[in-house]
Amino acid sequence: MRGVISVAFLIAALPASVAWAKAPDSARAEAQSLDLAKQLIAIRSVAGPGNRTADAQKAIKDALLAAGWNDRDVEIVPVRDTAYLIATWPGSDAKLKPLVVSGHLDVVEAKPADWQRDPFTPIVENGYLFGRGASDMKYDAALATSTLIAMRQAGYKPRRTIILQFSGDEETTMYTSRLIAQRLKDAELVINIDGGGGTFEEASGKPLYWTWQGAEKTYDDYQLEMTNPGGHSSAPRPQNAIVQLSQALERIGSYRFPAEISPLTKAYFEKAAQFETDPKLAAAMRAFAANPQDETALATLRANPAYVGKVGTTCVPTMVSGGHAQNALPQRATANINCRVFPGHSREEIRQILEKVAAVPGLKVTAVSGEDSISSPTSPMRPDFLAATQKALNKAWPGTPMFPSQASGASDSMWYRALGVPSYGASPVFSKDSDDFSHGLNERIALRNTGPAVTYYLSLFTDLSK
Ligand SMILES: [Zn+2]
Repeated sequence: MRGVISVAFLIAALPASVAWAKAPDSARAEAQSLDLAKQLIAIRSVAGPGNRTADAQKAIKDALLAAGWNDRDVEIVPVRDTAYLIATWPGSDAKLKPLVVSGHLDVVEAKPADWQRDPFTPIVENGYLFGRGASDMKYDAALATSTLIAMRQAGYKPRRTIILQFSGDEETTMYTSRLIAQRLKDAELVINIDGGGGTFEEASGKPLYWTWQGAEKTYDDYQLEMTNPGGHSSAPRPQNAIVQLSQALERIGSYRFPAEISPLTKAYFEKAAQFETDPKLAAAMRAFAANPQDETALATLRANPAYVGKVGTTCVPTMVSGGHAQNALPQRATANINCRVFPGHSREEIRQILEKVAAVPGLKVTAVSGEDSISSPTSPMRPDFLAATQKALNKAWPGTPMFPSQASGASDSMWYRALGVPSYGASPVFSKDSDDFSHGLNERIALRNTGPAVTYYLSLFTDLSK
């Protein structure tokens, strides 16, 4: 009886304009998600010797082939010690540009000796799935894959081609991420299931709010280098490379880049202020959203590690070295400056600012990040994306507030955005802040996400491809 009711409910809840042969089997998708996530966690997809990312891609491919994807449409491309996957579900209207669902299957290294449970043995305990990659992001990969499978098996025919892709080195060099974005640069938009997500309230465990990620800061390193002729330390010269470098570091350390705000971060501050428990901070967030030149608000936000990165570019000295002997004048002194750049500034622009702020004649300032990072614009607040996610979220976790966010770290989205393709971090997975162990020990994910996440993906993938 229960089954009959839920199927009838599902059909009623599905978009009217979509022809389904039968209702998608959510229960099956949920069961498959957990199976697949466990399978993926057990595969040690870590960069370096013994990297098994290609096997993780193969597990996804096998699941897709068993559900009706054509072998030629699911490509696994080996690259260096890893591999990426691009799976195409052709749409009926070839004129429409594809929807891309983007994630990664590599994980950060985990040392079993440091963990309470073996990181590469999936363990379900107290409603959580434990294991390296549980939250970043094998469970999410399994949820999205299983939902697409349920859609295909229910006879759904997308108008717009749906491409599922998993990179193989997002946590390290992002080389495959760059290759994938290059290949898929004609996409209509990208849903990055490795970004965004919801927060459960600590005490009640109820959904508090959900954010989508529409921008991220650029990671950049710069080297400062001061060289002198050197000489005997008993005969000092007026110029000393270590002293000159120190002067540069002092000035850069106390410099504040201009405050910046975008429509996306403005919306973030307005909405997020509601959930900030410190009234002084909440007031500063509202004041900054209303006037980004408000010095008092700015000082409050800049003094807080959680917000300083959201109000502009930041650059900090992170490494320093100099001198070659205790009794010699230094011939060389160097430092690394790590910057997190607000969207919209080039590497050269930031380099010139650092050089000017340092104001030390002869100091060499060089950008050293190379090709592992790229500056990318903010994705537009597209009404079709916003409507589809709002609707999907309401079905999954009714009434949960939703707002945009800008990440201070980097994700695969930057490669798409740099090529002009809008990319949105929009994972349906919620967690308590105290359960966030991504990249760390005892990584876990709350399994009560499973049902709502399938509901969300079903709605979102259908709306953006019908
Ligand atoms: Zn990730």
